[in-house]
Amino acid sequence: MAKQILILGGGYGGLLTALTARKHLTASEANITIINRFPTHQIITELHRLAGGTIKEQAVALPLQRLLGNKQVNIVVDTIKEIKPDDKKVITTSGAVHTYDALVVALGSETNYFGIPGLEENSMVLKSASDANRIREHVEARLDAYKASGNKADATIVVGGGGLTGVELVGEFADKLPEVCRSKGIDFSDVSIFCVEAGPAILPVFPKVLIERAVESLEKRGVTFLTGVAITEATKNTVSLKSGQTIESNTIIWTGGVKGNPVVGSCGIAEDRGRATVTSTLQSTSHSDVFLAGDCAVVFPEGGERPYPPTAQLAWQMGETVGYNLSVQVKGGAMDKFVPVFSGTLGSLGRKDGIGTIGGNNTQLKGLPASLMKEASNIRYLSHINGLSALAY
Ligand code: NAD
Repeated sequence: MAKQILILGGGYGGLLTALTARKHLTASEANITIINRFPTHQIITELHRLAGGTIKEQAVALPLQRLLGNKQVNIVVDTIKEIKPDDKKVITTSGAVHTYDALVVALGSETNYFGIPGLEENSMVLKSASDANRIREHVEARLDAYKASGNKADATIVVGGGGLTGVELVGEFADKLPEVCRSKGIDFSDVSIFCVEAGPAILPVFPKVLIERAVESLEKRGVTFLTGVAITEATKNTVSLKSGQTIESNTIIWTGGVKGNPVVGSCGIAEDRGRATVTSTLQSTSHSDVFLAGDCAVVFPEGGERPYPPTAQLAWQMGETVGYNLSVQVKGGAMDKFVPVFSGTLGSLGRKDGIGTIGGNNTQLKGLPASLMKEASNIRYLSHINGLSALAY
């Protein structure tokens, strides 16, 4: 009888698990079901461009039906409420109960507000296509309000966190807002775009020379970086900084970090600070019928002390290992160990600028080559998942 494989999450980890498992398992060997809270697979690494208004939603939200519909994978649109690994059951917010022989948890991460007062209630985040739409619409509505009232808080944007999410977002604002302002009859020099970073520098994953390049490029285009200063509180229209400074702003976007998904951290599988611990074959260290892919797991290099970062490229690769290992779980054989391949890190600084380090020797890229390389890596991913034909333009 066909085994029941249940995949939670249709992001990078979940989608690649489904595609890979189906390559190795026929429909009579396994019934594969994927549950996702959206009907789309979302290209999270490009959300800043939707928030800035330089691409359409269809470019970052690919219908799962188009990616998986002809692959004999059942698609369920629902939100996971509870995982009961000892009963082999998953309960969704619609009240449905799903059972399984093998479970894949690929539920990603959640925003970490670090308990900063007022932040969760008063800020927007960039974790989904609808978040990106909300940011774009909010910024435009505040600019309209500024035009009507002249209230400077409506023309002030504060992005909290100078990691890749925050910096890529301010890069889009710097590129797109001059045009938006022109169309509304607002002088772009009236608009303030702050990126506040608690650490001594933005983008600590990059070498100093590339960080300096990013700061220079974005400052020239109207971004103000405040580094070495943490956000300590937010209200509807203010951001307080550790330095004692207060910025009046009606647009606060928080990109200050991620944490494990609480549904995973609290379900009873072994975890470390909210992220599931895994074996080298990406099985839960407490439940061998539960596999993990993506940010909701914490994966350490063999003998290493620092876990791998929660990135899309690793989630994708974990999904492929898990997809293959599921076929071994069903048919027997030796499972693959997860051995990540790092192709590099690319960050965009708007449409025509970027920075990156690529390849084993960390070759540095900047300017148009970096931004073209980022574009190419997106196209490579889309073609890998057969997503180019799924783009519903
Ligand atoms: P992050 O954790 O990488 O960066 C968050 C930043 O916010 C940190 O620099 C931190 O010092 C800062 N911060 C924390 N608390 C603060 C406070 N109170 N005030 C001001 N600043 C504060 O988060 P991210 O940028 O969302 O990235 C998450 C993961 O996703 C990372 O591994 C990243 O590399 C990856 N990512 C990759 C890309 C890409 O490859 N282009 C794009 C986006 C994200």
